Amino acid sequence: MNPDLTAARRTRELDLLAAGHEVDVLVVGGGITGVGVALDAASRGLSVALVERGDLASGTSRWSSKLAHGGLRYLARGNVGVAWESATERAILADRTAPHLIRALPMLFALLPGVSATGARLTASGLRAGDVMRRAAGTRPGRLPRTRHISAAEAQRWFPALDPTGLRGALLSWDGQLEDDVRLVVALARTAAAHGALVLPHVRAEQLHAGGAEVRDALGGGAFSLRARHVVNATGVWAGTLAPGVTLRPSKGSHLLIGADRLGDPAAAINVPVPGHFGRFVFALPRPDGLVLVGLTDEPLPPGELPDVPEVTDDEERFLLTTLNQALETHLTPADVVGRFAGLRPLLDAGDGSTADVSRRHAVLGDPMSGVLTVVGGKLTTYRRMAQDVVDAIARRPGVAATPCRTTNLPAVGAQPQGTRVAGVPARLTRRYGAEAPAVAALADGRPELLSPVVPGVPVLGVELRWAVEREGALTASDVLDGRTRLGLVPAWRAAALPALERLVPEVLGRGVHA
Ligand SMILES: Cc1cc2nc3c(=O)[nH]c(=O)nc-3n(C[C@H](O)[C@H](O)[C@H](O)COP(=O)(O)OP(=O)(O)OC[C@H]3O[C@@H](n4cnc5c(N)ncnc54)[C@H](O)[C@@H]3O)c2cc1C
Repeated sequence: MNPDLTAARRTRELDLLAAGHEVDVLVVGGGITGVGVALDAASRGLSVALVERGDLASGTSRWSSKLAHGGLRYLARGNVGVAWESATERAILADRTAPHLIRALPMLFALLPGVSATGARLTASGLRAGDVMRRAAGTRPGRLPRTRHISAAEAQRWFPALDPTGLRGALLSWDGQLEDDVRLVVALARTAAAHGALVLPHVRAEQLHAGGAEVRDALGGGAFSLRARHVVNATGVWAGTLAPGVTLRPSKGSHLLIGADRLGDPAAAINVPVPGHFGRFVFALPRPDGLVLVGLTDEPLPPGELPDVPEVTDDEERFLLTTLNQALETHLTPADVVGRFAGLRPLLDAGDGSTADVSRRHAVLGDPMSGVLTVVGGKLTTYRRMAQDVVDAIARRPGVAATPCRTTNLPAVGAQPQGTRVAGVPARLTRRYGAEAPAVAALADGRPELLSPVVPGVPVLGVELRWAVEREGALTASDVLDGRTRLGLVPAWRAAALPALERLVPEVLGRGVHA
């Protein structure tokens, strides 16, 4: 089937469901977990509808650090099972599901004056244990090189802004970096659609029950009862709003974006220890498009607070800059920050006053009254395993005819080896659209200016705006700017590109903007 998501397809599928068509599985939530469940179920022969109250990936899946983790942090805390799952899933994601979207990222653990010899030895052993796990998990040889000790001079070549005073070299290790988290979610959603799933963004579930859900078209199309034999609540930190038995206490992780030129255009990431917190780091990760991503904070949200779009506070910005500055020769200031964003981690209230951190290990919770399954926690990296667990739970129910899970070997649309180049197709398109890049470029159709940045100084090409609307289901201006193209990560880019969007695909502007 066709993977393309369009406004016309959405209307057709909504009409079908509103007329009473029943599906096997209703998935609520279009983040990485929800689209993963939709793909798993559809590829096992079940009929599927997915509803998402905003755009695809309009929640936490848009605000991640964009790493395909090997689980090193969990290994350091003795969570071998979680680390193993991350390493295995990273290998599947990077080698088979979406190789075009995941590249090897070199990471420095700089041996700064404040890092003790014992601390350096412990970090080195952890990194080497991660290497062993990576090989055992089946990551293709050569995709992620081994950890090695490098000199201060080499460390500065990788990360030129590093302060050389007292620098004793660095440990150089490798992890996976995503081109972009929204691009992965959209690719998986379209792959699910190609397997027959009805993917319906801008449709809010207002109530879940045994036979489906009450849903409302957020773009003005009215409300109806959607009939489904099995319901999966994959609404992330919002899960408790639909499943009253699930209580989450989110904590906030904040990021900043800095122009790469302010850090000497680094080729590697750097991890800077947070003073007084062994094993906690602030990182600076070089990204494409001349940006460096700085993170991460961990601040509990006040009880009862659950914003749709969490904000980074000035205090959090100060903490990130101050910690990073300890490793830099020239200090960064708030004036260097070109964008900032935060995401919410779920902490599951265990009911006895304590919390369980399901941001590491996921949980599938069944409501005995309604039969609704709620899936929370995990990682972008481990979404596939979470989805398999949920659909396995459905498959065990009486009368469900699902074939075995096949997503370990199911490429997403666009999948092709990293680094593939096609003559005449801009490298940016190959990086973001993989095997579909020639088709994206072909949208220029005799208008070569559409293969240039929409505005000088902004990385996005004109054809990307059209592709977002014509093939990837963008329905509003925000879906194009904040979702598919990520222009919204840098507010100045977003503002500069808006007139181009108005010119190229005016139809999305009238439909309202979901935050
Ligand atoms: C700061 C931070 C950094 C992270 N970095 C990484 C990383 O680098 N690598 C990694 O592997 N993992 C990372 N993670 C974890 C990862 O981002 C999350 O585990 C993952 O994105 C959660 O996805 P989800 O689909 O469960 O939730 P979400 O992405 O939040 O999806 C839930 C969706 O449900 C929708 N929804 C809510 N209510 C309704 C309703 N009533 N009706 C319909 N739809 C509804 C929301 O709009 C939302 O789109 C990070 C997490 C945080 C917080």
